[in-house]
Amino acid sequence: MAERGRISVIIPLYNEEESLEELYERLVRVLSNEGHEFEIIFVDDGSTDGSLDVLRTLRDKDKRVKILSFRRNYGKSAALSEGFRVAGGDVVVTIDADLQDNPDEIPGLIAKLGEGYDLVSGWKAKRKDPITKTLPSKIFNLVTSLVTGIKLHDFNCGLKVYRGEVVKNISVYGELHRFIPVLASWEGYKVTEKRVSHFERKFGKSKFGSSRFLNGFFDLITVMFITRRASAPLHFFGRIAFLFFVIGAVITLYFVIEWLMGMGMHVRPLMVGGFILIIIAIQIGSFGLLAELFSSRIERSFSYREYRIDD
Ligand code: UDP
Ligand code: MG
Repeated sequence: MAERGRISVIIPLYNEEESLEELYERLVRVLSNEGHEFEIIFVDDGSTDGSLDVLRTLRDKDKRVKILSFRRNYGKSAALSEGFRVAGGDVVVTIDADLQDNPDEIPGLIAKLGEGYDLVSGWKAKRKDPITKTLPSKIFNLVTSLVTGIKLHDFNCGLKVYRGEVVKNISVYGELHRFIPVLASWEGYKVTEKRVSHFERKFGKSKFGSSRFLNGFFDLITVMFITRRASAPLHFFGRIAFLFFVIGAVITLYFVIEWLMGMGMHVRPLMVGGFILIIIAIQIGSFGLLAELFSSRIERSFSYREYRIDD
C-alpha cells in the first residue's frame, strides 16, 4: 500500500539556481513513470541567487510544486524540518538540490519501504566528492555507527525515503539532519539503507565548509544525550558525581581520622585532591540537576518558523 500512496518530495536548497529545472524535470519523469500522485516541496533556505525565480516559474506551470522560502539562510536542518511539517504524503522523499543524488533511485528506495521499513537511507557507496570530504565522512559514519549502535554506512545521505508518519515524529533542529536515522530509530522506527549512485557537483559549490566535521562530532554528543540520556540526565551525571564524592569523602575522612588520633594537620597533595573531587562532585551533581530540569524543555527552536508560504 505504501508503495502506491501519495508522495511528498522535499528539496532543501541554498543557491542552486542552475540545477533546479533539470532536477524538477527528472523528478517528474520518474514519479510519473511510476504512476505516483505527488507534490514537490522546494524549501528555499534563504537563497541569494536566482533560485526563487526559477522555482516560481516551475510553480506557475505545475501546481504540484510548492515553495517555502526562508528570509535568510537557516541551514539544511531547518529547511528539512519545515518541509516535513508541510508534507502531506504517505511517503516522503528527501533529495539534495545539487543533482548529486539521482532521482532514478527513488522507486527502489520506496520499494524497500514495502519490506516493512519506516526509513530507507541512501548509501553513497561510491561517493563522488573530494577525499577531503570522503575520508572524514567515513570516520564520522563509523564513529556514529559505533556510538549509536545503528548499522548504517552513510547517515548523512541527502536521499532518503520515509513513511509519512516518521517525519511528523522527529524533531530536526540545529544541524541534526546528519543524524536523522538515529532520531528515527530512537523513536522506534525501523531504519535501513540501500546503495545509491552519486554524482559530482555540476554547478555551484558545496554549502558546508570544513567546520562541518568538528560540528558533526559535537552534534553526536548532543544526539547521544537526546536519544539516551535526556530522559534522565541526573541519572547519568548523578552517577559520576556520586563516584567523585565517595572517593573525595574517603580521602577527607582519612585525614580527619589522622587528626583525631592526634597527628599534626598539614596540607598534603592527597588532601587537596580529596577536596577537589568533592567540589567537582558538587559541580557535576548540580549540573545534572539543571539538565534534569531543562530536559523537559529540550525542544526545537521555533525562530525559523517565520517563513512565508510563497503562493
Ligand atoms: N543546503 C541548504 N541550506 C544550507 C546548506 C545546504 O538547504 O544552509 C542544501 C543544498 O542546497 C543542497 C543540500 O542542502 O541541496 C546539500 O548541500 P551540499 O550539496 O552543499 O552538501 P554536500 O553535498 O557538500 O554534502
Ligand atoms: Mg551536494
